[in-house]
Amino acid sequence: MSSSPDARQELRAIRGMPDILPAQTPAWQYLERCVTDVLGGYAYREIRLPLLEPTELFARSIGEVTDIVEKEMYSFPDRNGDGMTLRPEGTASCVRAVLQHGMLQQLPQRLWYMGPMFRYERPQMGRQRQFHQVGVETFGLEGPDIEAEHLVMTARLWRRLGVADRVRLEINSLGSTASRAAYRSALVAYLSAREAELDEDSRRRLASNPLRILDSKNPATQALLRDAPRLTDHLDAESAAHFAELRSLLEAAGLSYTVNPALVRGLDYYGRTVYEWVTDSLGAQGTVCAGGRYDALVAELGGPATPGVGFAMGLERLLLLMQAAGTSAGVDVAPHAYWVLADAAAPRLALALGEQLRDALPWLRMQLNCGGGSIKSQMKRADRSAAVLAIIVGSDEIAANEVSVRELRSEGSPQIRVGVSALRAFLAERFTSVTT
Ligand code: ATP
Ligand code: MG
Repeated sequence: MSSSPDARQELRAIRGMPDILPAQTPAWQYLERCVTDVLGGYAYREIRLPLLEPTELFARSIGEVTDIVEKEMYSFPDRNGDGMTLRPEGTASCVRAVLQHGMLQQLPQRLWYMGPMFRYERPQMGRQRQFHQVGVETFGLEGPDIEAEHLVMTARLWRRLGVADRVRLEINSLGSTASRAAYRSALVAYLSAREAELDEDSRRRLASNPLRILDSKNPATQALLRDAPRLTDHLDAESAAHFAELRSLLEAAGLSYTVNPALVRGLDYYGRTVYEWVTDSLGAQGTVCAGGRYDALVAELGGPATPGVGFAMGLERLLLLMQAAGTSAGVDVAPHAYWVLADAAAPRLALALGEQLRDALPWLRMQLNCGGGSIKSQMKRADRSAAVLAIIVGSDEIAANEVSVRELRSEGSPQIRVGVSALRAFLAERFTSVTT
């Protein structure tokens, strides 16, 4: 290609916003189907939310001093000058929607959503600027039984996807707003006395969002935190009882977990339970699913005080995990049959017969040769389509009111003749489908 200055610039997708190509979509569809099945099995209902929301919604819900709001949002004024943001997550939109549509008058609500999210981050494996999440939000449930339900439900999904042995569960409790405030003071007192030893990010957070220092990746800061006051020791009695009950429910369900006292999550709206499903298979991008309780958020956004619990999982990371586990093959989308049309009258016959077969066997995947060509070149295309069978219609076949059928995936199988009226039964028998 020319590299002269006036050469036309090649048009490319935005960095970190990759296309998902036909070779990849079967794995996506498989993952999406598994998610839909599992969530449906617990009677969760889907909600579809817009990709664009008023910027204020995210600033108010996620918190001003968070990674997302400080540096990751795609925000811009629209043509009217109103501040718009491409959604960086789904919880805020979901709360906005349930409020707007009066859905909190019918509690509890168990909802899920799926789709792209946008964050301005440094793209790398498992981290993109447009990525996809499945999120679950429930409203109106106070007890830890709902957290337990979310966790057994996600554990079931991991088993269904074949990645259960690659993820582990970490949980923590952030306590009530009051107990968190008391803990914050204790932590700030401890860290202020050692401010010189803190990394720069943590020093900045000391004033703005000190709890986030707990999940600093800096080794020196982590060493300093080993003797710091612990959130778990500052829990109020009710939060402690809530956490103990959750732990006992998880144990009864046979779900193993570890308590990670440094787990605080990056969003402001969490209180009490927080958790992450983490993996060692994806390097630094180790969190595949994260969530917790957010009892204050609905009121924060102007609604009636309503408990909320939710989580979101990253689909790209789950697909990478499935790939690592060798379970990402997904569904077979190759045609069952490729029609080789070797006579001028063949397309007419194949179109009509093809439609009859599709009526009778709706699950059948057939590709008709378009654009003519010799038998040889059509057979080559049939082979490249990955079809299982070639159905060949030539002048001999038409004269005999038959088609020829050849197996394409087994070496040396004979070509056989099948009567046009017997083709439907033949295909039904050859490809037994669960839906027939
Ligand atoms: P991280 O610490 O990896 O940045 P996060 O705490 O910002 O994650 P959440 O806001 O909790 O992530 O989002 C839930 C899940 O969405 C994450 O656990 C992850 O699987 C996925 N996710 C978040 N950001 C991205 C991204 N930029 N690219 C791909 N997946 C992402
Ligand atoms: Mg992040």
